[in-house]
Amino acid sequence: MKASQGKNTMLTFEAAVTTLLNAVSCKLSAEMMPLSSCLGRILTEDINSPLQIPSYNNSAMDGYAFKFSDLDAYASFRVIGHSLAGHPYHQVVPAGCCVRIMTGAELPLGLDTVVMQEDVLVHSAGCIEFKQKVSAGSHVRLAGSEIEKDTLVLSAGQRLGPLHIGLAATLGFAKLPVFRKLKVGVLSTGDELVKPGEGLRDGQLYDSNRFVLAAMLKRLDVELVDFGWVADDPSLLKALFQKVADEVDVLITSGGVSVGDSDYTKQVLAELGQVDFWKVAIKPGKPFAFGKLNACWFFGLPGNPVSAIVTLDQLAQPALRKLAGEKLIQTQLFEAIASQTFRKKPGRLDFQRAFVEQSNGRLTVRPVGKDSSGMLTSLIDANCFAILEAERSDVAAGELVKVQFFSELLN
Ligand code: AMP
Ligand code: MG
Repeated sequence: MKASQGKNTMLTFEAAVTTLLNAVSCKLSAEMMPLSSCLGRILTEDINSPLQIPSYNNSAMDGYAFKFSDLDAYASFRVIGHSLAGHPYHQVVPAGCCVRIMTGAELPLGLDTVVMQEDVLVHSAGCIEFKQKVSAGSHVRLAGSEIEKDTLVLSAGQRLGPLHIGLAATLGFAKLPVFRKLKVGVLSTGDELVKPGEGLRDGQLYDSNRFVLAAMLKRLDVELVDFGWVADDPSLLKALFQKVADEVDVLITSGGVSVGDSDYTKQVLAELGQVDFWKVAIKPGKPFAFGKLNACWFFGLPGNPVSAIVTLDQLAQPALRKLAGEKLIQTQLFEAIASQTFRKKPGRLDFQRAFVEQSNGRLTVRPVGKDSSGMLTSLIDANCFAILEAERSDVAAGELVKVQFFSELLN
């Protein structure tokens, strides 16, 4: 987990993410879960289809099923039976005859085409005549046309959303093998912090990080453990770290990882585990700690709310997904035209809080006008990060900017 970083050099964002991803791997056991409990869980293995879908030829319309080649000899067809969803017509259909069929109902053996009921004239004698030409095989969903038997339908590492669960049900799975949930603890550090709901004295502020970080982690469907708050006191920190490391797979703290006078986290972690303190060339969020306390992974986020949120979202999120067993997907970036100036000093990759919208068929983006790492409202006003490259300076209106829409962790 040691990132190659000289004493005074900063780690690039890409190097930090790569180091995190290379260090971690999923060690979670598998469990079979009923479909109703699979939302947000991660598949442990590839799933092949035990069936073909549709499993039988069926009608896509309400109408009449017949054999297309009978049209050579017959101008009208006698209706000899019904095929309804769940109630197929199993008898032989003689030449010149057809079967009334409803959407989804099985096509009787030997028949290959369906004419929509709107396209026929029904005579009182129980015969139908076509109002217009019908093409061979129309309105028929052939067996196996959507999914062939034994083909891969869901891959290991897939996080299961509503559609995946629907697909599993379509294929008859009552349960799926998923990883046990990653157990993640959150902890705030700092003498100045007060729990929401309590009174504030001079110099104090409410502990908001624990709540926002916990809520973000819930979006990752982890088993969350709230370890509350701890003062900047080395002996308290030490006792707490020792205790919690045995209880969770991952511990996420905020505060105490920079070089402030009372940032004892560093000192205590140096004694207890193998944790490295990084300076990552990103804004906000430069200080970041990562390592292990016994078997527990440790992510130390900076205390400023925006920095804590951005480092969880951008740096820790991919590693947490990997630890949970998820197959990673590249985050989508879009190009937008700056509609106002973005202020920037060269040096660090900047995740500016910005608002992107569509205007005249193009994406345009503007800064939200607050860029302090302490202002949570800067994120509230934004819907994306404008990602300004490290070497870039001020961005003038009209220049192209890379934009990343907020992930589900921030929505
Ligand atoms: P630190 O990284 O510990 O130096 O914290 C930097 C600043 O972030 C502090 O001065 C606080 O204003 C703020 N901060 C730290 N922890 C929290 C928290 N849990 N909730 C809200 N603000 C925090
Ligand atoms: Mg602090």
